Amino acid sequence: MAGLENQSSLSSIGENNYNNCSAKFLDLEALDCPICTDPLTTTILQCENGHIACSTCCNKLRNKCPSCALPIGHIRCRAMERVLEAVIVQCPNAKFGCTQKFSYGKKLTHEKECTFSLCSCPARNCNYAGYFKDLFTHFFIIHYGETGYNYQFIFGKSLEVCFELNDYTSIVMKEYIDGLLFVVQCFIESYGVYVTVSCIAPSALEVGEFSCHISTVVEKYNMTFESPKVKRIRKLNLQTPKEDFMLVPSYLLFEHQSGNLKRQALKLRICINKLNQE
Ligand SMILES: [Zn+2]
Ligand SMILES: [Zn+2]
Ligand SMILES: [Zn+2]
Ligand SMILES: [Zn+2]
Repeated sequence: MAGLENQSSLSSIGENNYNNCSAKFLDLEALDCPICTDPLTTTILQCENGHIACSTCCNKLRNKCPSCALPIGHIRCRAMERVLEAVIVQCPNAKFGCTQKFSYGKKLTHEKECTFSLCSCPARNCNYAGYFKDLFTHFFIIHYGETGYNYQFIFGKSLEVCFELNDYTSIVMKEYIDGLLFVVQCFIESYGVYVTVSCIAPSALEVGEFSCHISTVVEKYNMTFESPKVKRIRKLNLQTPKEDFMLVPSYLLFEHQSGNLKRQALKLRICINKLNQE
């Protein structure tokens, strides 16, 4: 088996730390989906010829195997699933202090939850990435005074934020006690403006969970939006969201006035609550 000779990148970091990891005998790339290259997760699917893919790829490919065009997505590859369960790896953030070990199939899930995973700064044109706690300090010092980045709030108390509605806008709300950054984004589409709120942090237990209430009054129309769980993300998504957004219809915000498009600033009242942890 060629893989036996093939030292994985994990084992080269330091044998002693990884004594309990079975992964050092395997080429870990063999455990990634050959199509999207993400680590395979618990369900692995195969076509009749034995080509494998993850379930996300099967959906995207509309169940047609990219290698042989036979249907894929109905037969599970249980042998590979067992291998995936048996291969225990160390967290990729071990070098930053994470001591967790888990089966390779749980790698993606753990990375989302790992307190040591790096989070990217939500400021425009900033490339900084760090632990979520360091990110708060970075943001506070480096982006102090920048437009839209000076909102601070307290959990349970609403705060008014204002968007001028240029092509794409985001503002950052700072919470000082827990040291967290919440980003409110507006995405302008032809039929409306999508508003989202997210917390820049891993989905770790110690970060906590939050709900959010947004309200706005535009042209005497009162709109409210209640999000039961604010998304915790490690990097800002700049794509128009497909879920978990408030939609403010265009006709209220934009109107044609003697040939010119008149825009109204969008004022939102935002209240973020910290959910009780059981
Ligand atoms: Zn895939
Ligand atoms: Zn195939
Ligand atoms: Zn970890
Ligand atoms: Zn930054």
